[in-house]
Amino acid sequence: MRITKTPVTNPVSLACPGCGRSVATIFEHHVDTPDSKLWTRFGQPIRAPWAAPTPASISGAFLAWDFCIGCSAEYDVPRADFIKRNHQSSSLQFDVRKSKVNNYVCRLDEPIDGAPDKWMLFEYLTPVGKFHSHRLGPFPCARDFQRASNILKQVWPAMRQLNLDEGEPHGRN
Ligand SMILES: [Zn+2]
Repeated sequence: MRITKTPVTNPVSLACPGCGRSVATIFEHHVDTPDSKLWTRFGQPIRAPWAAPTPASISGAFLAWDFCIGCSAEYDVPRADFIKRNHQSSSLQFDVRKSKVNNYVCRLDEPIDGAPDKWMLFEYLTPVGKFHSHRLGPFPCARDFQRASNILKQVWPAMRQLNLDEGEPHGRN
């Protein structure tokens, strides 16, 4: 299984599963939201063996959620973060806000049960390597950790490999 990532040249609108209005519009280097409200403000880690960091890779799985300001419906956004481990990076808890970000649409070369056929990847060019943050959905909300876990678990190896293949510190590849 491989992931193909395509730069966001035409803005991508993420639709509320409740009313269909846009909860976020993804541009090549930034995100616009209605009323400038962040679109995934809440979340909790998904603690599972498959999501654990490895000697080569630091990672984190999360279920994020928020609500649509159009219809008030809540939505789920499974999230997966990766950065290649190197001598400077020790955790995912660094400030990415000052890093340049490139946004991509990801697709799989084979379909996966319950997984969307495409999703967003936010790629931050940090001083310690490319930080990849995948966001899938939005899905209708049930704070559904089982659904998020089922999807992420299947795509996880391909996501991790993508970051390992590309994740050298900015300027060194
Ligand atoms: Zn809505």
